[in-house]
Amino acid sequence: MRLVLFDIDGTLLNSEGLGRASMRLALGSIFGSPGNPAYRYDGKTDKQIVRDVMRLEGHSDEHIDSRMEKLIEIYLEGLRDGVKSGKFNVRPLDGVVELLDALEPREDVVLGLLTGNVETGARTKLRAAGIDPDRFRVNAFGSDHEHRPELPAVAQRRASELLGLEIAGGRMVVIGDTPADIACGRSLGAKAIGVASGHYTVEQLLEHDPYAVFPSLKNTQQVLEKIVNA
Ligand SMILES: [Mg+2]
Repeated sequence: MRLVLFDIDGTLLNSEGLGRASMRLALGSIFGSPGNPAYRYDGKTDKQIVRDVMRLEGHSDEHIDSRMEKLIEIYLEGLRDGVKSGKFNVRPLDGVVELLDALEPREDVVLGLLTGNVETGARTKLRAAGIDPDRFRVNAFGSDHEHRPELPAVAQRRASELLGLEIAGGRMVVIGDTPADIACGRSLGAKAIGVASGHYTVEQLLEHDPYAVFPSLKNTQQVLEKIVNA
């Protein structure tokens, strides 16, 4: 049995900046400024983005924490409004639907999410891209922990609690588009598959010593074989 954990942004879908626009709107509304426009959101959890960006603006952790819940609420509203507006073409990335279709019926695979998105945001983005969030049975979200390296253990624990499956670290496959995805499961012995469909190239991802890297998830058979032989 393998637990296959997908990142969302840049891996399963492209939201055309919807997440970033909603976050900047929420930051501006709660803290008075959306913060440094050069700060990169990819590979980060939602709450980590808020903390990093607002620390750089000079806010204390106490101040940030006291406003976090409200901020996430406004962010989620922004996501929903953005989807409704039709201004963002949220869509699955190449090969994603085919790969999920190939993995889902297999008895040696459990599908899951490992994402920095808070759970409600993850579900909103997936639905907007036409991907049913309930296809993923064991998940770890940014709402479970602010630090991505804690998330693989959350997923591992949920597999046990929800499905009664004890999955060894080496039987976990983490698929994502950033070095943070590749690194997060290392301490558990998880296998990381990088996919250069976000902002990092194949060469850049290879520098972080993943188990495999693909330019995209388009070649279903090749990716599937890597996953089930991990
Ligand atoms: Mg990503």
